[in-house]
Amino acid sequence: MSEMRRNPEAVAELIQEARTIAVVSHVNPDGDTIGCATAMRLALKKLGKEAVLFCDGKIPDDLAFLPGADEFRHPEGYEGAFDLMLSVDVSDPRRLGSCAELMKVSRHTAQIDHHPTNPLFMEVNSVDGKAPAACIMIREQLKVLGVPLDTEIAKCLYTGISTDTGNFAFACTNAECFDIMAELMRIGLPIAKLNRILFRVKSRPQALLIGRALGKLQFRGDGKIAVMLLTLQDFRDCGALAEHADTVVNYGMDTVGTEMALLGRETEDGKAKFSLRAKEPIAINDVAQSFGGGGHPQASGITMEGALEPAAEQVIEAMERKLVGSL
Ligand code: 5GP
Ligand code: MN
Repeated sequence: MSEMRRNPEAVAELIQEARTIAVVSHVNPDGDTIGCATAMRLALKKLGKEAVLFCDGKIPDDLAFLPGADEFRHPEGYEGAFDLMLSVDVSDPRRLGSCAELMKVSRHTAQIDHHPTNPLFMEVNSVDGKAPAACIMIREQLKVLGVPLDTEIAKCLYTGISTDTGNFAFACTNAECFDIMAELMRIGLPIAKLNRILFRVKSRPQALLIGRALGKLQFRGDGKIAVMLLTLQDFRDCGALAEHADTVVNYGMDTVGTEMALLGRETEDGKAKFSLRAKEPIAINDVAQSFGGGGHPQASGITMEGALEPAAEQVIEAMERKLVGSL
């Protein structure tokens, strides 16, 4: 199946036939991929299926409140086979990390995703590059499976929809988000409590890291590109982990006159990781793709081998070319 479209019916068929299902989130997990997986786990349990959650990476502390967040397993050393492997919000097979191994021990594979760059790498692909969050598609998937919503599932879906839309602020936010939100509110979503956990509360390392990044803010491309680079030493000084850098790039977008933002950071395994953001109508996923990365038009990422500064210079120059329309 090579066409990009939502296909909850085909996914439902594989789920109905399966008894054991591996539900897989992407590396550097975020609210959407974890919200999808935890919602699916609850739904699959209701259907009498045996569901196991997998992620090659640590679940961020601010998502620990999600029902089932403590059930994620690392695929390494896992013995066992599955009738179905279902990946959620995974844009690219590389973003499975070591969970890619599960493909070999699963009879069927399927995915639910919303990245326009998705190469449709599973046997059944339900992919809608226009959906604002993969959790939007999970809502529809549950409808097709005949699983009614409950407050616990609502928490999971709200987490994915709200985080991927930047708390309903990004250009991708659409009426479908609010249709689903109305349903979630009617069944008692504790929105104020969760909103505070997801968008307001910061750990001390996170607050210090934001300060460190803002202290290093530079402007390129006639002031239209905000750049922040964080070294491993910065992370150590702030007592911060990689996950604490997650929303830092957005601060670059909040300066008057900026149209793009770049956050670069050194990783523990000696690579350079970049987060790219752009304001509509500018799209930067082509910039990310030209370095082997990918993502959404206004939010993309790149992982590169080698030292941070020279890698950053290459990415900044590509962003500058994009600004003047010559990429
Ligand atoms: P972030 O900047 O928040 O890490 O990622 C933004 C988006 O870019 C993610 O939703 C994901 O789709 C994509 N992305 C992030 N890092 C990478 C990467 O290293 N490779 C690819 N192909 N996509 C990435
Ligand atoms: Mn997503």
